[in-house]
Amino acid sequence: MRRRRSIAVKVGPVVVGGDAPVVVQSMTNTDTADVKATAQQVAELARAGSEKVRITVNNTEAAAAVPKIRDRLDMMGVSVPLIGDFHYNGHTLLTGEPACAEALAKYRINPGNVGFGKKKDTQFSAIIDIALRHDKPVRIGANWGSLDQSLVVAMMDENAKRAEPWDAGTVGREALIRSALDSAARAIELGMGRDRIILSAKVSGVQELISVYRDLAARCDFALHLGLTEAGIGSKGIVASTAALSVLLAEGIGDTIRISLTPEPDESRTREVIVAQELLQTMGLRAFTPLVTACPGCGRTTSTFFQELAKTVQDHVRTKMPEWKLRYDGVENMTLAVMGCVVNGPGESKHANIGISLPGAGEAPTAPVFIDGVKTHTLRGEGIAQEFVGIIEDYVGRKYAQRGG
Ligand code: SF4
Repeated sequence: MRRRRSIAVKVGPVVVGGDAPVVVQSMTNTDTADVKATAQQVAELARAGSEKVRITVNNTEAAAAVPKIRDRLDMMGVSVPLIGDFHYNGHTLLTGEPACAEALAKYRINPGNVGFGKKKDTQFSAIIDIALRHDKPVRIGANWGSLDQSLVVAMMDENAKRAEPWDAGTVGREALIRSALDSAARAIELGMGRDRIILSAKVSGVQELISVYRDLAARCDFALHLGLTEAGIGSKGIVASTAALSVLLAEGIGDTIRISLTPEPDESRTREVIVAQELLQTMGLRAFTPLVTACPGCGRTTSTFFQELAKTVQDHVRTKMPEWKLRYDGVENMTLAVMGCVVNGPGESKHANIGISLPGAGEAPTAPVFIDGVKTHTLRGEGIAQEFVGIIEDYVGRKYAQRGG
């Protein structure tokens, strides 16, 4: 899959664009002024695999909290770069709280609400000036829901004069793209390097997002942040984000992604990170954690034991990955298979590094295990799950080189 060529941007220690792999980003939903809760959630997102975390900076209390959050994270050993999300008053907050401006690794500016009328350019320029003084990159993030209305009106007037006017949707998409590109051009005019700018132009419709980003990607070489805004809750949010982002990623478009999921009540915010990682990994773009292949089960599976084993293996791998990652090189590429019967079980097991095929209805009560394509064990009885997890642990220790060893 050929990636679109984009200019690399350094966000703290993380490189976005250029030859760098697609970066996973997430955003907190705590009150940023609550230092303890925000640092805790940032740490959870980072430990789940988020490589950059965005926090909203919406008032003076939040701005004052940012350096304290950074300090607290550093004390926790969490070095993930923090990105400040600014709307309306970013220029005031960054000017009034220089420690906030310094603690952040990047500023996100929404050109649709950075300021209105004559103040727009002054306030935008003020943020760019602060970014230049603190040597920080910016993301110019246009959004369908907060489109620059003066630009829309000007483009509607322009459109009315066309011999064959565009439809309203086309004008809106063009306004979104132009808002991002014009703001980037203004930032460059103010002295910002092209290697300090990331662009995004988010919409909430799948087909619109694909169309907007294809166009944006063809018209510039800035690094692009992808995300379907307001994707929704549960499976709808996951499916919509995946549908849109996978098409663009398959075309080589996108340097950093965020899955904007609305968490279900009591659901961990880390779900958006896991979905982003699984999207990139199942597309073969990156490897984060061993993938577990499992059949869906059918009338041949005799009990819920098969589903329980698949979940046990998936949970074990996710729980152990932070420790494995530190100790073993390449363990994230390991593949596992948990299959429900002999129809596809042994075949799929042979394709994985380690696979198990449980007995289906009417089959002998044995579970053959394959390691690197060779049948090595036959498990039976009550302890199959623990024995299989033990086989995985043993394999990881033998197969993957110790880091620094
Ligand atoms: S592998 Fe067996 S149990 Fe699983 S879906 Fe196929 S036939 Fe059903």
